[in-house]
Amino acid sequence: MGRKGTEIAAKSGMDVKELIKKLNKAYADEWLAYIQYWTGAQVIEGKMRPDIQKELMEHAGEELGHAQKLADRIIQLGGTPILDPKDYFKQTNCGYLVPSNFDSKELLKQNIAGERCAISVYNDILEYVRKGKDAITFHIIRGILEDEAEHEQDLEDLQTDVLAK
Ligand code: FE
Ligand code: FE
Ligand code: MG
Repeated sequence: MGRKGTEIAAKSGMDVKELIKKLNKAYADEWLAYIQYWTGAQVIEGKMRPDIQKELMEHAGEELGHAQKLADRIIQLGGTPILDPKDYFKQTNCGYLVPSNFDSKELLKQNIAGERCAISVYNDILEYVRKGKDAITFHIIRGILEDEAEHEQDLEDLQTDVLAK
């Protein structure tokens, strides 16, 4: 753990343990989002399949990148990222929508719901670390939030196109 870094975060009056809990819940969300996107991209059928498949795979990779950033920060703060995937389901905020309907429109709808949940989760964490004056976590979460907003927009654009076909 980064001792000085944790010290600074704790000195600001922020509850570092509570923050680690929040980051771990988001970490669970990211793994489940990764799996949901990746799996959806394998089974997708219907309108605009190649375009949507490509976007789903791209987003899968970016969710994994978010999981990496969260794991790094959790460790810097003296915590341990969730070790057992079973706990992803216990800790998740946004859950896992099983991509059992392979239709491209349905997959888009599910993943848009996931992005909207992610946006509100990261907004809450951002508010928490803003109040706690943790500039490093703020910067990391702000970057992830920006990606999630972009993900939502990308999927909404595809949804507009697919519905117009
Ligand atoms: Fe993400
Ligand atoms: Fe996302
Ligand atoms: Mg994209």
